[in-house]
Amino acid sequence: MAKEVYVDKEECTSCAQCVDDLPDVFKMDDDDIAEVHNSAGASEDEIQEEIDACPGECIHWK
Ligand code: SF4
Repeated sequence: MAKEVYVDKEECTSCAQCVDDLPDVFKMDDDDIAEVHNSAGASEDEIQEEIDACPGECIHWK
């Protein structure tokens, strides 16, 4: 089974970078905080790049 990813919403800065880069994985919720809607929406390598690039360091593997 593919690894699952999540956003620690307490730390998200609402920059939307992850949504811009991988819209099939991340979306903004009603409070303008990022969340994961599909962990399988990109390769693990692509998601890892997003984890490394997140300014809030708040995207993590489960
Ligand atoms: S890249 Fe990180 S800080 Fe920016 S919206 Fe996504 S989860 Fe939040």
